[in-house]
Amino acid sequence: MTRILDGKALAARLRARLADEIAALRARTGIVPGLRVLLVGEHPASLVYVRTKERAAREVGIDGRVERLPVELPEASLLERVSALNADPTVHGILVQLPLPPHIDPARVLTAIDPAKDVDGFHPLNAGRLAQLSSPPPADLLVPCTPRGCLLLLEEALGGLEALRGKRALVLGRSTVVGRPMAALLLAHDCTVTIAHSRTRELAHECRRAEILVAAAGRPELVRGDWLAPDAVVIDVGINRVPTAEGGSRLVGDVAFDEALGRVAAITPVPGGVGPMTVACLLENTLRACRARLAVEGRG
Ligand code: NAP
Repeated sequence: MTRILDGKALAARLRARLADEIAALRARTGIVPGLRVLLVGEHPASLVYVRTKERAAREVGIDGRVERLPVELPEASLLERVSALNADPTVHGILVQLPLPPHIDPARVLTAIDPAKDVDGFHPLNAGRLAQLSSPPPADLLVPCTPRGCLLLLEEALGGLEALRGKRALVLGRSTVVGRPMAALLLAHDCTVTIAHSRTRELAHECRRAEILVAAAGRPELVRGDWLAPDAVVIDVGINRVPTAEGGSRLVGDVAFDEALGRVAAITPVPGGVGPMTVACLLENTLRACRARLAVEGRG
């Protein structure tokens, strides 16, 4: 029997815990964690994502606000806005929604965010600290939200993170957003990690060896059922829209879900798996950043 890992339910439990912790923090210190999401332009998927983040933030008691900026905004003006938010003591988390318009260099903007407010965990300082870990991340390290969500799903599937120790893990994808930080987290939890990408030879063979498989290639149903080891735990990060026979469309992951059912120990569905965890982990990072600031100020 394959267990379907319900990311929606796990994310709801995490959000409920965060709401309690934020209420307690507010009662004790009067501080409300603040999150600012900067959206440049009108990218349709980004509009949906930022609204979801703003709503989710408010529901747990975070002062979450989206700032919508015109598509033609010069890079220097965006950097000025980031700098103002860095200096604003009511703001604990800053997120610049990607992708940015082509005239803006994302690396320059992400590097301009104060690493202590970098709730996406993409600043080179945070990425570098994560890459250097040889034990689980310390409480003040802001880890990218999607890999953190995948780790919590693995914890749920395995009954604890200690069970990761020594396991053979395959991360399919090497992006800085998902694949690389995921591999670093698994390594920090003592997995034996392989990272696969578009130039990997014998991908099916690599997948079959994996006890833990995190698929983040962005290729619809690339991973077939017979590529999966019996009893593997599969986390499917991919979100791919494919046409249906009726002329509509539907979302599928990077793993052929129906073929995996009955074969693997556990798998996340798409949608309803990793997606909700990503948003919940953004809220977790905002609270983490707020707490770290209070600790620095001696009010923790
Ligand atoms: P990305 O930047 O496009 O990276 C994709 C990675 O997959 C690359 O490393 C690429 O290899 C590799 N790849 C592509 N085709 C492959 C193939 N046929 N065989 C082996 N490897 C292959 O994508 P991303 O931002 O990491 O996102 C990956 C997927 O996750 C997308 O579907 C995205 O929508 C989804 N996603 C979901 C969430 C969520 O919250 N659920 C969050 C972020 C992303 P090369 O490096 O060699 O090109």
